[in-house]
Amino acid sequence: MTYSVSAFMEQVAQRSPGEPEFHQAVQEVVESIQPILDAYPDIRDNSVMERMVEPERVIMFRVPWVDDAGKIQVNRGFRVEMNSAIGPYKGGLRFHPTVNLGILKFLGFEQIFKNALTTLPLGGGKGGSDFDPKGKSDNEVMRFCQSFMNELWRHIGDRTDVPAGDIGVGSREIGFLFGQYKKLANQFSGVLTGKGHGWGGSLIRPEATGYGTIYFAEEMLKAKDDSIYKKSCLVSGSGNVAQYAVENINRIGGKAVTLSDSGGYIYDKDGIDDEKLAWVKDLKNVRRGRIRDYAERFGVDYFEGKRPWAVEADCAFPCATQNELSLQDAKRLVSNNVILVAEGANMPTVPDGVRLFQDEGTLFGPGKAANAGGVATSGLEMSQNAGHAVWDRNTVDKKLRNIMVDIHKSCYQAAEAHGTPGNYVAGANIAGFLKVAEAMLAQGVV
Ligand code: NDP
Repeated sequence: MTYSVSAFMEQVAQRSPGEPEFHQAVQEVVESIQPILDAYPDIRDNSVMERMVEPERVIMFRVPWVDDAGKIQVNRGFRVEMNSAIGPYKGGLRFHPTVNLGILKFLGFEQIFKNALTTLPLGGGKGGSDFDPKGKSDNEVMRFCQSFMNELWRHIGDRTDVPAGDIGVGSREIGFLFGQYKKLANQFSGVLTGKGHGWGGSLIRPEATGYGTIYFAEEMLKAKDDSIYKKSCLVSGSGNVAQYAVENINRIGGKAVTLSDSGGYIYDKDGIDDEKLAWVKDLKNVRRGRIRDYAERFGVDYFEGKRPWAVEADCAFPCATQNELSLQDAKRLVSNNVILVAEGANMPTVPDGVRLFQDEGTLFGPGKAANAGGVATSGLEMSQNAGHAVWDRNTVDKKLRNIMVDIHKSCYQAAEAHGTPGNYVAGANIAGFLKVAEAMLAQGVV
């Protein structure tokens, strides 16, 4: 009997009401793996998919902290430990006002398959808070991070659950979180990744997600005898992932022409070269300013409240947040003959947009494959920590590149093997799912 995707989704919606992003992420995976559930009765009959959508553990907690005016503020903290079949829970922490349980379940669910694709022994998890670091002083951010860790520390560990950064959690926040963990646990361990280079961090970890997305896109183009070289590229966001996507586009000889933040986007037709990018890094990571300042500094146009998808270009890299590329945006990209879309962010393209790209033959690299370089390099940081080793830049960059080449290969081959050639969404979902499903079957009903 054919596995019923709609019956399964009805059950998910009933058990987890009010979590639309989670439903969206699950729907995409279950649609892709339906043929697997039909072909492998063992997986279907042992309710593997039913178990995968239920987090192994959810921790929710109060995070009280004192602001600079002496007032007590209260936020909510979360850690969703989604799946540990192939390794300790691994996934970032997001600090953003939109964070809630449903958003973190969607991100944790995606993380299961992404981590499986990296070839490293990493389970899936995600966490964070509805705290907004924007507009807060460094001291406020520190007090918040310390309070957050006062609860989280007892649930994590280098062999249990290893968080990292995500939106709103960069090197400053990881530093404060690690300092507090160390104080409470009385232990210097690789419990967080994305640490500073002088205290257990890996070289290339800050660059890894953005670099990896471009390496993945380069592999997709290579399969078509093409390259990013001399291609114009749209990039959204201007945080960690976007900055290093631009840097790698520049290294390959392409031209990035846009960046954005939640206020709007800038269009620089001459390209965001390394000098301009250095200015952006200082603006975003040190001065914590807005992207509109780029327009003033370099004399280009700024489009308030808009996203960059109507600009003519060859490739597009959404690197900001979920559902930032609508069906309308996808139509514009297709009518502008964009040849490739690769997701630096998690689930930035709405499902109808993904379908349109696939129908129109636009190369489409889904986030769980294209942005897996970040968590892969976190895995490399864990290996270095466990072996008390420090690898040089070149070594880590080469390993990252090889991992992205391997991820591309397994998505490509899984798509071919299951009758959907060129469909990287199906390829990524099937390859990631099979690895975790086999481990779950071997480990019994847990
Ligand atoms: P950052 O916080 O460094 O940057 C996020 C960027 O996206 C900022 O420019 C921000 O603008 C913009 N943004 C955030 N929310 C919105 C919104 N609702 N509308 C428009 N713009 C928005 O985060 P990262 O670069 O680390 O993460 C970006 C994406 O990449 C996320 O989807 C994340 O899950 C994903 N990712 C990150 C990894 C990592 O290693 N960091 C690994 C894999 C995936 P503003 O400052 O105005 O909010």
